[in-house]
Amino acid sequence: MNIHEYQAKEVFRKHGIPVPPGGDVASTPEAAKAIAEAIGGQVVVKAQVHSGGRGKAGGVKLADNPEDARQKAEAILQLQIQGLPVRRVLVAPALDIAHEYYLGIVLDRAAKLPAIMISREGGVDIEEVARTKPEALSKQHFDPERGLRPYEARMLAAKVEPNGKLAGKIARVIEKLVAAFASVDASLAEINPLVQTPDGDIIALDAKINLDDNALFRHADLEAMRDPDTETDADRDARNIGLSFIKLDGSIGCVVNGAGLAMATMDLVKHFGGEPANFLDIGGSSKPEKVVTAIRIITSDPKVKAILFNIFGGITRCDDVARGLIQGIQQTGVKLPIVIRLVGTNEAEGRKILEEVSGLHPAETMDEAVKKVVELAQA
Ligand code: GDP
Ligand code: MN
Repeated sequence: MNIHEYQAKEVFRKHGIPVPPGGDVASTPEAAKAIAEAIGGQVVVKAQVHSGGRGKAGGVKLADNPEDARQKAEAILQLQIQGLPVRRVLVAPALDIAHEYYLGIVLDRAAKLPAIMISREGGVDIEEVARTKPEALSKQHFDPERGLRPYEARMLAAKVEPNGKLAGKIARVIEKLVAAFASVDASLAEINPLVQTPDGDIIALDAKINLDDNALFRHADLEAMRDPDTETDADRDARNIGLSFIKLDGSIGCVVNGAGLAMATMDLVKHFGGEPANFLDIGGSSKPEKVVTAIRIITSDPKVKAILFNIFGGITRCDDVARGLIQGIQQTGVKLPIVIRLVGTNEAEGRKILEEVSGLHPAETMDEAVKKVVELAQA
C-alpha cells in the first residue's frame, strides 16, 4: 500500500526525522487559502497523489500569499498526474534551499537485503542521475536484524557532504530513516529531496513510503491511512473478501487457487496466444462467496470475453468451488463462456454439481483448458 506525502511526513515526524513545520491538506482552493493564511509568508502547494514527478507535471508550486495559494491550489486540483486525479493538496511553509540531496531505502531483492541509496545530486532529476551517472549514487546494504551501525551512517553521509557538521545531521537522518523503514514494515522509504537550508538545517522536503501489504495487519494506524480514492471498486471488493487480484489488459478472466498456479496459468494463456485480463488467487479457503465476488469483479471488465477457472482442490474442495461457481453464475447472470478445470479433493463431487449447469466447458488438463478458453475468447 502507498501512502501520501503528508502521511509519510507524519511517520517521519514520529521517528524524529526533521520535516517542514506546520502545514495541512486541503481538498478545495478556499481551504488551501485558509491554511496559507494561518501559515503566513510564502508557502508551497503540493499535489497529493501516489506518483512521483509531481514537480515536473506542475503539481508543486510556490505561492507568495494566500490568494496566490488559492489560485495555485485551484490549478493543481484540476490536474491528472500520470493518470491519477489530484483530490488533495498539501499546503506547507516554503523553505529556502541551499542544496538538495537524495536519500532512499529500497528492498534489493537480488541481495535479499534492504539497501540505502544516497546522492549529493538529489531533486527532480534523480532518475536521470541514476541512469547517466550511477557513480553519483552510493549504495549500502544493511541487515534489518542488526540495523545500521552509527559509523556506517557517518561514512555514507560523508560521501555526500564534506562539511562535518552537516554530514553529522545527515547521518542522524539516515539512522532514523532506517529505524522508520523497519518499524513500519516499509518496502520503500525515500526522501527526495533531503535539503540543506541556508541556516544549515537538514530537512526532509519530500517523503515517500510504500508499505508491505502482508505486514499491514500489525499496523492499524497505517491501515487507517488508506486512501479510498486511489482504489478501484474491484480492488476494494477483492481486498475485503480476501482475494489477491491484479487487473491486467487482456480478454481472458482467470480464477485460480494458489499464487503459483495463477502465475503458471497466465503463462500458459500467453503461450497459447491469449492475454490474461487479471491475476486472481482465490486462496486456500473454499468460501463460495469468494467465487461469487471473483466472477463479479471479472465480469465488471467489459474487455473480458471468456473466463477460465483453474482449480486444484487441496484445502480448497472442488465441490465447494463448484457450488460457489453455480451461485456466482446465477447471482451475476454471467453470459460469457466459462472453461473449468477442476481437479483434486472431491473432484468427482465437483464435476457432478457442474454437470447440472448447461453451457460450461469442462476440461481435464491445463493445456486443454487454456487452449479452449483462448479459442472462445477469440470467437
Ligand atoms: P516530486 O516532484 O513529486 O518529487 O515533488 P517534490 O516534493 O520533491 O518537489 C519537487 C521540487 O520542488 C523539489 O525538488 C524542490 O526543488 C521544489 N520544492 C518543493 N518544495 C519546496 C519549497 O518549500 N521551497 C522551494 N524553494 N522549493 C521547493
Ligand atoms: Mn520528490
